[in-house]
Amino acid sequence: MHAVAAISQSALAHNLSIVRAQAPHCKIVSMVKANAYGHHLSHSTPLLQADLLGVSELSEARQLRQLCNQPILLLPGVYNPTDLNEAIELGCHVVIHHPSQVALIANATQALNIWLKVDTGMHRLGLSADELNSSIQQLVKNPNIHIEAVMSHFACADEPSNVKNLQQISHFNQLDIACFNRSMANSAAILSQPSVHFDYVRPGIMLYGVSPFGEPDETLQPVMQLSAPVVSIKKISVGECVGYGATWQAKEDTTIAVIGIGYGDGYPRHAKNGTPVLINNTLYPLAGRVSMDLICVDIGNALVNIGDKAILWGHDKLRVETIAQYSDTIGYELLTHVSSRVNFIKT
Ligand SMILES: *Cc1c(COP(=O)(O)O)cnc(C)c1O
Repeated sequence: MHAVAAISQSALAHNLSIVRAQAPHCKIVSMVKANAYGHHLSHSTPLLQADLLGVSELSEARQLRQLCNQPILLLPGVYNPTDLNEAIELGCHVVIHHPSQVALIANATQALNIWLKVDTGMHRLGLSADELNSSIQQLVKNPNIHIEAVMSHFACADEPSNVKNLQQISHFNQLDIACFNRSMANSAAILSQPSVHFDYVRPGIMLYGVSPFGEPDETLQPVMQLSAPVVSIKKISVGECVGYGATWQAKEDTTIAVIGIGYGDGYPRHAKNGTPVLINNTLYPLAGRVSMDLICVDIGNALVNIGDKAILWGHDKLRVETIAQYSDTIGYELLTHVSSRVNFIKT
């Protein structure tokens, strides 16, 4: 009896179609970094039909090449000639986010697509406006190099009314880049800022059926359904405590269902008492601390049997956004933390 992450192929296709409907005139970069946000690249093939595939490591580009022929956007770019050569061989579009990368690439002897990343206010990765202009001047001298797009990334797109968004958009619009493709929009901006869809959109979390805004979005279909079996049922009396630290105490006589999943599988240890768990189509509250391999649920006087399936997230009645709220984190983190001992299947 094992925890299972079932990856819905139809939900992936549906969510990609929502991106197409939201940004009908744009090319799409499916963001499949972090092993497809924890869904496993090999289980996420419907996303690989996008125009480009965004990864955060060369190893992911290598893995993608076993699965498809689409061009790949290598987000961190390259830092040495060996990686540059492999990126070219793998058909990667290479991001330049730092001036030191220009020198490495400017003398490329093979055809190469470049994306220039500009810092418009997030102050993480990206070239300044001046660095962008001097990079372009250097790169256009080499006929092997094609500048495919200029990109930037939002710091606060998940808060659509945050003034920082307008500042970043205005900064981007002031750049002298009219002759290049442009790309700014992550999931949040795809859904809330149509004026910045530009030429390429870069959806991530929404492809996996999760809202970037933290509240479930009914138009998206959850992709990963995490479930585990009930492994024990026991009656407990009023006043008795459950789990490590005895942090939960029965207010009346009740029944506890023990589920075979814990933080060792990626269920968040910080999930609070009361976090909902779905068993036989009914939500029941988590009782006591999450252990490494087990959690306990207060099922009252409901009839639940050993072997019944408990759904932790990824159901219309229980989305990962809700679990994130109960554990003070975001859906992104929960999805990318499902561990390798969980059995991943395609559905
Ligand atoms: C991860 C990432 C995205 C996708 O962000 P979501 O919020 O998951 O849609 C877009 N652009 C860049 C540069 C990223 O690193």
